[in-house]
Amino acid sequence: MELLNIKDLDLAGKKVFIRCDFNVPMDEFGNISDDRRIRSALATINYCLDQECCVILASHLGRPKGEVDLKFSLEPVAKRVQKLLKRDVVLATDVIGEDAKSKVANLKKGEVLLLENLRFEKGETKNTEELSKQLADMAEIYINDAFGVSHRAHASVEGITKFFDNQHKSAGFLLKKEIDFFGKLVNSPVRPFAAIVGGSKVSGKLEALINLLPKVDKIIIGGGMAFTFLKQMGYNIGASLVEDDLLEEAGHVMAEAARLGVKFYLPVDVVVAEKFSEDSVSKIVTAQEIPDNWMGLDIGPATVRLYREALNNVQTVLWNGPMGVYEMDKFARGSSKIAHFVADSYATTVVGGGDTADLVQKIGVDEEMTFISTGGGASLELLEGKILPGVLPLMIKKDEVL
Ligand code: AMP
Repeated sequence: MELLNIKDLDLAGKKVFIRCDFNVPMDEFGNISDDRRIRSALATINYCLDQECCVILASHLGRPKGEVDLKFSLEPVAKRVQKLLKRDVVLATDVIGEDAKSKVANLKKGEVLLLENLRFEKGETKNTEELSKQLADMAEIYINDAFGVSHRAHASVEGITKFFDNQHKSAGFLLKKEIDFFGKLVNSPVRPFAAIVGGSKVSGKLEALINLLPKVDKIIIGGGMAFTFLKQMGYNIGASLVEDDLLEEAGHVMAEAARLGVKFYLPVDVVVAEKFSEDSVSKIVTAQEIPDNWMGLDIGPATVRLYREALNNVQTVLWNGPMGVYEMDKFARGSSKIAHFVADSYATTVVGGGDTADLVQKIGVDEEMTFISTGGGASLELLEGKILPGVLPLMIKKDEVL
């Protein structure tokens, strides 16, 4: 199977709809704190502009619930795209409403229009045919360059592809780069291969963990998700984050790891706090001695040493999810120390996920990583060997004639 390639399309002067992933992190002032996802889409946009296309960009941002919520407006994104492209970018005030339609109709060659947040429309996440068709009707060509959302069967990602034949749709450069990279990583990782998995929740990552087990040599757990495993092992976890309904599943993951001979690492000490706040009292305790009503918000120094030891001999590292609440300086040390260690290693280092990418950029080690993926969930699903719903309609058999 091969991806439909943008280079095989006849783009000259055409109206092109590019699904981007501009779901960028913002700080408390509403500034974009990491524009990697926007910068990563420039190659495809510029390629289309060089061919005198009328360019329609579309993305989601955050999780508005299918209705207009200006907190999630793409206005700051439009400004950043404009700055990076060094040409005017017009923002439509809606997605498929009057404003978007008239701006699409009047779009001239070499001009760029950005639609408002796709998730202002209920049909986007529901993948309705109606929304897919209305979006498809805007353009002659469809390009998916939104790797970070390609594991979702949404209207602008999956539904829309049904309205374009193979000569009128393709993957963009970013999507292709991500798929090619993870393809190589899945098929021939240099071993030992360790996956560092963190973040807040076990849910959403459990399936990935189960599927990763046969592919990796070590799994290293951090972040809030560690506590579900620790509780399952019989530890008192105080007021730490836990998903009680997943305890049994967590036990199953650990049993599977043991059965397959995969080394499964959990924190041996944690930084606990009385409140979920930067100014809370905090202390370091062993994982066995978390006091009642205290919550674990970062891995402790002994865990950092243990994890460094475990990572010492690995040749490939995949990191998805922070080791603690890295947004608060007080609980960012664990993530920061692991980030520096991973960055300094000679292994192939792959960072997946918005939060982890944001973290390594904040710490200033992003340039040291081998590959920073723009998609967390999507990269995990690729590693599990799944074909993503947004990618499948853009695949052809190797000998299929276009
Ligand atoms: P996720 O979206 O599941 O990848 O989780 C990322 C989030 O996990 C970040 O915003 C972190 O602040 C949060 N996080 C990491 N460790 C913990 C923890 N021990 N308790 C609560 N939240 C955490």
